[in-house]
Amino acid sequence: MSEPLEKLRAIVVCCCLLPLSANADEGMYPVSEIEQLNLPAKGLVMSPGDIFNPDQVCLIDGICKVNGCTGSFVSPNGLIITNHHCAYRAIQSASSTEHDYLANGFQAKTGAAEIPAKGYTVRITEAFSDVSDKVLSVVDDGMEATQRTKAIDQRRKELEKSAEQQNAGMRAEVAEMFAGKTYVLFLYTYITDVRLVFAPPASVGEFGGDTDNWEWPRHTGDFSFLRAYVAPDGSTANYSKENIPYQPKRFIQVDPNGVDEGDFVMLIGYPGRTARHKTASFLSYEQSVRLPFIVDLYDWQIQQMEAAGKDNRAVALKHTSRIKSLANVEKRSRGQLKGLRRAKIAAHRAAQEAKLQAYIDSDPDRKKQSGRLLADINQVYAEMGEAAPLELNLQNLISASRMMNLAFTMYDSSVERQKPDLQRESPYMDRNFELTKKRQLLTQQDLDPGTDKVLLSGMLDRLNAIPEAKQIDALRVAALTDELRRNYLDSMYRQSWLIDKAYVEKGFEKSPAELKELDDPFLNWAIELYPHYLELREKGKERNGRLDQLYGELVSVKQEFQNANFVPDANATLRLTFGRVKGYSPEDAVYKSPITSLQGVVDKTTGETPFITPQKILDMHAKKEFGRFKNEKLGDVPVAILYDTDTTGGNSGSPILNAEGELVGVNFDRAFEATINDFAWNASYSRSIGVDIRYVLWITGNVFGARELLNEMGVN
Ligand code: ASP
Repeated sequence: MSEPLEKLRAIVVCCCLLPLSANADEGMYPVSEIEQLNLPAKGLVMSPGDIFNPDQVCLIDGICKVNGCTGSFVSPNGLIITNHHCAYRAIQSASSTEHDYLANGFQAKTGAAEIPAKGYTVRITEAFSDVSDKVLSVVDDGMEATQRTKAIDQRRKELEKSAEQQNAGMRAEVAEMFAGKTYVLFLYTYITDVRLVFAPPASVGEFGGDTDNWEWPRHTGDFSFLRAYVAPDGSTANYSKENIPYQPKRFIQVDPNGVDEGDFVMLIGYPGRTARHKTASFLSYEQSVRLPFIVDLYDWQIQQMEAAGKDNRAVALKHTSRIKSLANVEKRSRGQLKGLRRAKIAAHRAAQEAKLQAYIDSDPDRKKQSGRLLADINQVYAEMGEAAPLELNLQNLISASRMMNLAFTMYDSSVERQKPDLQRESPYMDRNFELTKKRQLLTQQDLDPGTDKVLLSGMLDRLNAIPEAKQIDALRVAALTDELRRNYLDSMYRQSWLIDKAYVEKGFEKSPAELKELDDPFLNWAIELYPHYLELREKGKERNGRLDQLYGELVSVKQEFQNANFVPDANATLRLTFGRVKGYSPEDAVYKSPITSLQGVVDKTTGETPFITPQKILDMHAKKEFGRFKNEKLGDVPVAILYDTDTTGGNSGSPILNAEGELVGVNFDRAFEATINDFAWNASYSRSIGVDIRYVLWITGNVFGARELLNEMGVN
């Protein structure tokens, strides 16, 4: 890894060899493959070379990653448009009962009034190169699975570190494209001073709430504006008053005219994870083990947190972000379960695998080499299924309870930070530790001991019902009678210092021995449980090592069998997908058209959460004060659009671009049936949902009067 940045940028990723006859619109394509997609024939007007070109500034320079979401630079001064749900944590952590920006919205009239978005980072892809050989040079066939995972992990970290040393201020990440087979090093400009500029009130940004989430038709104004800042010399810097707005190499021009039904659209963004190359046994594990577990557990957690905040806005504000993300995953998991069952996806994949197995078995050499591949993969998932009750509940014990999460992370970090940097778990490496701490402090800020105790106690009930958990001495509190357990937990919460922010901050600087000396009840408990979590971690590595190797071989033999090449699963790296604004038929005799309007918002408004609409919007609608954002065909302002691109989580906030590469909306969701995209894409029902730019501009400029933002985006 000694190539300078400029050279890296000129190297095209060669890991993914596409089926060159990419006929269906399935596919989250790495941008390096753009020329192969024949986009002009699909409706693109701009030149594909202006979307991505390793030798010059192009469209992708205007697109960024905002934490786990995507955003677009929409002005030369670092202004970013993303989703309200992506900026949610920033809005929530700046909100209090006195300044309730979640409920009332937020608008910074000047740069000085913008609020730091704590814990937020922005990345822009600058370069990438195939480093598969460098990564795989450290493994050999004789290695144990755990050893293999560790060797690959360490090699990835070394490559990242050395790339960062050579490109000061940049962030490097080695992404696995095909498990155990292809790895690509990405270099990012990395911005850590991010500020909140504008957020509509939740009644717009979250209109419809969980009821409408993952549903079409949709009427949510799910957008917000952030701004990226850097030091006066242009380098990455943490928040400081002296910082100046970041000037992106390129920004995306907003097109206030929007799109129409049937128009070509493309999305560029950072889709998180898909599992299209996984086996039927993985799908069965998801369907019968993990997804039902998540639905049940999250549903229960949400109920507890909602009850705790029902009559107390201060407590509700602490829980709101967490409830929102749990509810998002819970409903998505329900959608996936329904889709897996209805479309019999595991059975279809099993049928494909049977054909593959027959192909493998038809040649003695191939059979000798790969005959057991599928059976060995199935074996790993069978083991995971068997261990799931104990493992999933143990993992969730330290995420459901914030106190346990703080105690565990603090101790884990102190142990890990004794090791050389490259041997540490990633969150505790020097390059990540500051962010890890920042995020833990935000967790601490949202701690409500009363709710935490209920969640912790509930997790103990769950663990107490599992025979293997009963054998873990460190979990003996789970077996106490209700009253004894209540008293015990009460005294733990009374005595623990983790409730105190300053204490938590200092705790992250201490050694394991110093943490032991503190004699804090939660820390003591985390320390006692620690060996069990280490065991889980090792187990995980061992399984990953096996799966990586097996999946690497599986992709090769599948490619040979199908005489085709595949697009790698989404892995939070930059991808492009394209399609058209298009309705769909989710069930027999039902057709849903692809554009909603402000009239729909008014019709859905009941005055009860989540269907409250600000009076001003209702009045402006009644007077038809739509300004230039009226769509003549609708006689109204368009609100949301539906299109058949291939997206997943992480595409939240992705720009919806027209044929000229201008921004006509912001992607934020999928239809319920399309939750299944993560496992399989389907032309008839895979539909993504975005907020129409005309609604964004009308709400921002006409309703809330932030004309300066429209001017900044060049919209008059
Ligand atoms: N609303 C979704 C999410 O935040 C976006 C998607 O998955 O399509 O996860």
